[in-house]
Amino acid sequence: MKNLLCARLWLAVSLSCIGEPALAVLPPQAGVGPAAALPPAGVAAVPQPAEEGLRFETIAPGVHLIWTPPIPGFERRKAKVVVAEFDTFTALIEAPWDDRSVRQILRTIELRIPGKPVRFALHSHHHDHSIQAVDPLLAAGATIVTSPWNLEELVKLTADEGTLRRRAIVVKDRFEIGDRTNRLIVHVLRRGPAPDGWDVPTPEYMVFEVPERDLLVSGCLYNKPKETHEVISGRKRALSRFISEKGVSAGTLVPTNTTSELGFEDVCTLQMLHDSLIEGLDPAEVSRQWGAVTAEEMRARLGEIVQEHEARKTRAFDFLVCQSKLVVDGRPGHALVWLDAASRLHPSDPYLWYESGNRAWELGQFDDAERRWARAVDAARDAIERGELREGIDEKRAGK
Ligand SMILES: [Zn+2]
Repeated sequence: MKNLLCARLWLAVSLSCIGEPALAVLPPQAGVGPAAALPPAGVAAVPQPAEEGLRFETIAPGVHLIWTPPIPGFERRKAKVVVAEFDTFTALIEAPWDDRSVRQILRTIELRIPGKPVRFALHSHHHDHSIQAVDPLLAAGATIVTSPWNLEELVKLTADEGTLRRRAIVVKDRFEIGDRTNRLIVHVLRRGPAPDGWDVPTPEYMVFEVPERDLLVSGCLYNKPKETHEVISGRKRALSRFISEKGVSAGTLVPTNTTSELGFEDVCTLQMLHDSLIEGLDPAEVSRQWGAVTAEEMRARLGEIVQEHEARKTRAFDFLVCQSKLVVDGRPGHALVWLDAASRLHPSDPYLWYESGNRAWELGQFDDAERRWARAVDAARDAIERGELREGIDEKRAGK
């Protein structure tokens, strides 16, 4: 279950967008449908609407967002990319999903910022919502900006390793792209304990500062649901510490891995991050609070937990993060009660049922675990999700 935590984020947040129309303006598909047919000789061609490309918005002078197209088979996954504009070229931050999506993104840049080719392509880390396509970028003439650990991940994505290695700029710590119109600074954060390391999701993670616009593209380190604050994770604290210790310009924070279609702020602020660190649900606090009583005593207060989190609008993802902390702290029985409260509020979330099955299994309640896993598989929202869940369940059963 590779990338499950990232997948979970998508899956958990996707509940909020069920029933919403599919995202983004798709470019017309060449060669498909009646518009592609040539008019008979002598008949004037009907004017076609101008090609618009993907959804595109300017958020600061020379800084633009593009919303990614839906991915076949996994339409609920959404992301954004950032384009920094310079005098004669552009720099693209993130290249997610697949070659097709990246070609659509490149085409959108060509349409919206004509005459400024993508000279640099940058990415925050190696997951598919950050980068999954290298060859269309190389074909477009872009130089890939990455870090030493991430370069070895990118090699797995290309059919032309030699060109990638030749054209990559490998940043160990800091790298700056600039001209008289704009500046973009790449910072590499290495995962590890403070003070030199950072709590980031992968061994090396990059953030991108646009100092003249007081803006930081922070990939998936900080997300803000529109109605509430997300759970406080180590990566949010790491981002806040990084900004203050390094004196980074970050009045505006752009997360690339969530979108407003999923109920998140497309553009956040540093103030929002500070508020989230105060208002958000703290997994360590949850574990401390419930660790003070037995799991049985906690179960007797299940209704109270449900009520509190109904009022707080705690999302399935936030429950999952807190339950991970309960597990890490050696409290699987408490985690099971916690997940039961969560499932009362989010009965159709498959990952809550999946994790509660795992906890029941670890506690030796095998029949109960099977019942919970069956609910998880039933609740899966597409074939990919169902496959991931089944894979995880099989792994667990194999370890019996
Ligand atoms: Zn990720």
